[in-house]
Amino acid sequence: MKFISTRGGDAVTGAQAVVQGIAENGGLYVPEVFPSVTEEEMEALLGMDYAERAALLLLKYFDDYGEEGLKEALKEAYAQFEGGDPAPLLRMDNGMYMLELFHGPTCAFKDIALTVLPYLLRTGCDMLGIKEEILILTATSGDTGKAALEGFRDKAGVKIAVFYPEDGVSKMQKLQMCTTDGENVDVVAVRGNFDDCQTAVKKIMNSETCRAELKEKGYLLSSANSINIGRLLPQIVYYFSAYCDLVNAEQIKMGEKVNFAVPTGNFGNILAGYYAKRMGLPVGTLVCASNKNCVLTDFFKTGNYVAKRPLFRTMSPSMDILVSSNLERLIFELSGRDAALTAERMRSLAETGKYSVRAEEMKELRTLFYAGCTNDADTVECMYDFFMDYGYPMDTHTGVAMSVAQRFEAMVEEDKDAEKFPTVVISTASPYKFPQDVLYALTGNDVKDSFKGVKRIHLLTAMKVPESLKSIRYKPPRFKTVVSADKIYDEVKKFLG
Ligand SMILES: *Cc1c(COP(=O)(O)O)cnc(C)c1O
Repeated sequence: MKFISTRGGDAVTGAQAVVQGIAENGGLYVPEVFPSVTEEEMEALLGMDYAERAALLLLKYFDDYGEEGLKEALKEAYAQFEGGDPAPLLRMDNGMYMLELFHGPTCAFKDIALTVLPYLLRTGCDMLGIKEEILILTATSGDTGKAALEGFRDKAGVKIAVFYPEDGVSKMQKLQMCTTDGENVDVVAVRGNFDDCQTAVKKIMNSETCRAELKEKGYLLSSANSINIGRLLPQIVYYFSAYCDLVNAEQIKMGEKVNFAVPTGNFGNILAGYYAKRMGLPVGTLVCASNKNCVLTDFFKTGNYVAKRPLFRTMSPSMDILVSSNLERLIFELSGRDAALTAERMRSLAETGKYSVRAEEMKELRTLFYAGCTNDADTVECMYDFFMDYGYPMDTHTGVAMSVAQRFEAMVEEDKDAEKFPTVVISTASPYKFPQDVLYALTGNDVKDSFKGVKRIHLLTAMKVPESLKSIRYKPPRFKTVVSADKIYDEVKKFLG
C-alpha cells in the first residue's frame, strides 16, 4: 500500500510515511485507497484476540513491513495492557456499550497506538537505511505526551521532546509526564495553550532551515502526534474489535450497523472510525462529541471552520483544541480527494483562521456524522446521573461523549422514520487520570490533592486503581522548564546539546 499527501505530490511507502510524520508540502499522509475487509475476514476476526485482529487489519496498510515482525510487535504492545484485553467492551444498563481503551501503560486511549508506533518507526528507519537518530517532537494536550514518552523512552536511536501547555493539563497528567524515566526524553511546559504548542511544533517540522540544522547534528525529525499515519491506523482496530465483540456476545448480527460516540479533540480517534467504515465496517452514525470548545460542532452545522475564537479551559483538557489537525484528512475525502483544494483550504486556515466547504460536501458530512457539544456543568450532571443510575464511573472526556450520545439517541428516538442502531461510547481515559474533576462530578466534593481524589474515588466505586498511577505518587518531578512558544526550537537545540 502506498500513501499520498492530502496536499498532493508523489506517493510514498508506509515506512516513509511513518518516518516522515508529515509530508514535505505540509500535507498529511493518507492511504492511496481504502483496503476492504471481506466477509471471510470478518468471520475470521471474530475468533481472534486483539493483537491478531490488529495484525490482520494493519498488514493491509503496512504491507511493506514484515508480517512476522509486525505480529510480534503487536503481541508485545498489547500484552502491556492491564487485564489482558486492550479494548474490553462493557454493556451498560442504559442499553449503550462502553469501549474501555484506558488499560494501557498511561491510562488513556493514546496507548493503543503509541505502544505500536516505536516499532513502526524504528523498523521503518531500518528498512529505509536511515543512519540519523530520530528526533520526535510532540505537542500534547496531556495524554499523547505521556503515552509517547512511555513508548519511546530508552529506545535506541530515538530522542523525544514533549511540549505541553503549562496550565492546560491536569495535575495528574503533569506529574505523569514530569516523572518519566529515560535518558532520551525531555519534557517542557509552554506558556500558552495546546494550539500554540501544536503550531510551533508543526512550524519546526515544516521548516527547511530547522530540518537542515538538525540533520547537521545527526537528527531526522518525526512526529508522534496523530498527524502521523502510524498513530492513526492502529486506532482503526478497536472499531472492528468492538464490532466483533458485539457479534460474539450476540448483541448484534453480522452486518447490522453500530453507532460510535467519540469524545473528540484533534479528530484522530473519530477519523479512525470513519476509516473503519470506508474499509467496510457496518458503522451507522459517528457521533462527534466536543466540550465547550465547539469548533467542530459549529463546522458540522455550518460548513465553516472558524478557529479564530477564544479557547476555553475545561474539565476535559485533552479536548481543549481549536485546530483539529486530522479534519484535513476528512475534508480531503469529502472533496473527492482534491489535493489542490485541500491545500488551498489549509492555507486559508493558516492565514485567516478559517475555511469553508461546499454544500454537497456538507450533505455527505451529515449522513456520516452527528456533532454535538456540551459544557462542564452538563458533563458533570451526566457523569453523576450515570453513576447513580447504573453504578459506572467514567472520566470527564468520556462524560462529554456520553452526554452527547444520550442527546443523539433521544433525537433518533423521537424520529419515527429513523433507523435505530446500538451505540458504543468510546471511553478514552481512566477516571483516575482526572481524579479531582471526577470526584467532584460524583460527589460534589473538591479536593486539592490528586491522590486524595484517587483514594476517595476508589472507596466510592471500588474500581481498581491502575498500578502506573499508584507508582508516581512519591516520585519527584525531573522536568521543570517553562518556555514561551517562540522559544520551543531553542529548547530543542538545548536538549540535543
Ligand atoms: C486525546 C484524547 C481525546 C481526543 O482524541 P482526538 O483523537 O484528539 O480527537 C479524548 N479523550 C482523551 C482522554 C484523550 O486523551
